[in-house]
Amino acid sequence: MTIHIINGFTCNAHIPHNWNTGLVCLLIESNQGLVLVDTGPGLHDYANPTLISKIFKMVTIMPFDPQEVAINEVRRLGFKPGDVKNIILTHMHFDHCGGLPDFPHARVHVHRKEYEAFITKTGFLSAAYVRRHIAHKPDWVFYDDMGEKWFDFNAIRINGFEPEMWYIPMPYHTAGMSGVAIKTEGGWHFHCGDAAADFRRNDLPEFTISLILGPYMPRLRKFASEHPEVRMTASHMFLNYFSDLVK
Ligand SMILES: [Zn+2]
Repeated sequence: MTIHIINGFTCNAHIPHNWNTGLVCLLIESNQGLVLVDTGPGLHDYANPTLISKIFKMVTIMPFDPQEVAINEVRRLGFKPGDVKNIILTHMHFDHCGGLPDFPHARVHVHRKEYEAFITKTGFLSAAYVRRHIAHKPDWVFYDDMGEKWFDFNAIRINGFEPEMWYIPMPYHTAGMSGVAIKTEGGWHFHCGDAAADFRRNDLPEFTISLILGPYMPRLRKFASEHPEVRMTASHMFLNYFSDLVK
């Protein structure tokens, strides 16, 4: 069982100039073929940028390099796009699910509240929900809170997969924002999506984190320190995270 970590989208801040982040997409080899956790933007987003991408291009520094699309990374790793049978979304903002049309036959897993927020375009940052990303009418699997736990987090089992996987709902950034925990040989990989910022950095302004990502960071940091066997990622890790992986 292997988890490949891909940078699906580089986005750098103007200020501070050293805030250079990527977007964690996980490509998991499972008993049901490849599972992709978040897609990053897709080919169509580069060919025909959406309004929200154009706005992001103005307020941030984006290389906006189509080489970064997940479908290219899948090929570079030696797989075919059709090998991606399932896509698990942390949430449905454009930078996390824009690549759905590049994998039109994949089943798409998402928290039901996230799908509903997307359809009704409700919530903070709802402009980041782009209808055309689901125009191909994917085969959906929706998840509801069932009162289960993973460690002491509210959790929903993503059934049928080996390795074992769980959704960890952490709503705030969006209505259905959910982390994903995947069992690994040595412990777990806990991908916190946009409920957390890069765990390796202690110099990020707590106020901005709690405003945009919600109240979870202190609890997640504590969990990380108590569970060194759990590998923790946030969606927007700083670029050296990805470059360190290949060293
Ligand atoms: Zn988001």
